[in-house]
Amino acid sequence: MRHPDACTAEPAELVTPPDPFAPEAIKRLAARYGSPLLIIDAERIRAGYRRLAAALPGVDLHYALKPLPHGAVIEILRDEGAFFDLATNGEVELVRRAGIAPARCIQTHPIKRDSDIRTALAFGVDTFVADNPDEIRKFVKHRRRASLLIRVAFRSPEAVCDLSRKFGCEPDAVLPLIELAASLGIRVRGLSFHVGSQAGGPAMHVEAIAACAQLLRRAAADGHALGVLDIGGGFPVEYRQAVPSIEEFCAPLRAALRGVPEGIRVIAEPGRFIAAPAAVAVASVMGRAKRAGKWWYYLDDGLYGSYNGRMFDHANYRIDSLRSGDERHPSVLAGPTCDSIDVIDEDIQLPLLHAGDLIVGRTMGAYTWASATEFNLFPKAAVLVVDRGRVICGGDHDDRPT
Ligand SMILES: *Cc1c(COP(=O)(O)O)cnc(C)c1O
Repeated sequence: MRHPDACTAEPAELVTPPDPFAPEAIKRLAARYGSPLLIIDAERIRAGYRRLAAALPGVDLHYALKPLPHGAVIEILRDEGAFFDLATNGEVELVRRAGIAPARCIQTHPIKRDSDIRTALAFGVDTFVADNPDEIRKFVKHRRRASLLIRVAFRSPEAVCDLSRKFGCEPDAVLPLIELAASLGIRVRGLSFHVGSQAGGPAMHVEAIAACAQLLRRAAADGHALGVLDIGGGFPVEYRQAVPSIEEFCAPLRAALRGVPEGIRVIAEPGRFIAAPAAVAVASVMGRAKRAGKWWYYLDDGLYGSYNGRMFDHANYRIDSLRSGDERHPSVLAGPTCDSIDVIDEDIQLPLLHAGDLIVGRTMGAYTWASATEFNLFPKAAVLVVDRGRVICGGDHDDRPT
């Protein structure tokens, strides 16, 4: 089977205008490659990485593969000097194929199969995450090579996706877990947390950093000198709702990090902030019908495809048609499948559209293509990677007539 992120396009095809997200460029790419498409802009991947790195000086950024696990994205970030955050055997395989040094990767799934541990170790990754006694005991047989970060939970009801409900130990459990690991001869290197994806503001990160600084001091006082603090992901992006700029968001984090003991290496695991703004989803109108006085447009991508984040990720994307200038009407955008929940937007202002018209979703790089299904055997969007005006990767639709 061809791997879904295989780069098969002949490189160096020219895109004009060079910004691949400009309407003219999107129209040309859709005319050439068909739809549905996920167009990834390499320059925007780089820009997001550099902006976050500048906002968090001294913090090593491990790109979390989960929101957009694509080989080209990994290679672009590799060339920026990024580190990587892996959770599964499949993600290990992706970084391996991109030639990433294992020392630049950590495995951060708090609950692992033994095969996840063995695969990561065989590749050369030696840092893992655990948050409970049973998981720590899984490392007894790997204790010569593996070391651990203890994941601490800080509940974040205001984050769009709270990640401390399912994972992480109570702050009070950290020292006993470190003691347990020590008694089993397993090395604990540090602490980690993830306050939740698309954080509502910097307050939870600040509180978690302060609490971890305290725990690091207490661990050191108990004779367990730790060396790493992993502040996770959660950095927000702008969908339909405004969010603070990343510079504003990170300023209080930087201040909190000044309270972390000397000699601690601080790392972060950004996913969404780098991936989301770097892609647009392009779909075509397959057909239309007027129902109860309203136009329904049926696209070749929907809730089971790129727009699955409307449900799983609670994301409200900015969506528009590329047809401009006309009068707008309240309309419905539906996905292609024969399921009635497959509706992207029940009430969107659109000009009168025709079959073949293009619909573009912005800020759609994170938790979209990654979690899309092929329900009804409608294929996932084909990924197209564009770099400074050239298509460098992708564009294959699996169900194209040959
Ligand atoms: C999903 C995830 C991330 C990425 O989070 P974002 O909010 O997308 O930045 C980082 N670390 C872990 C452990 C995750 O599960």
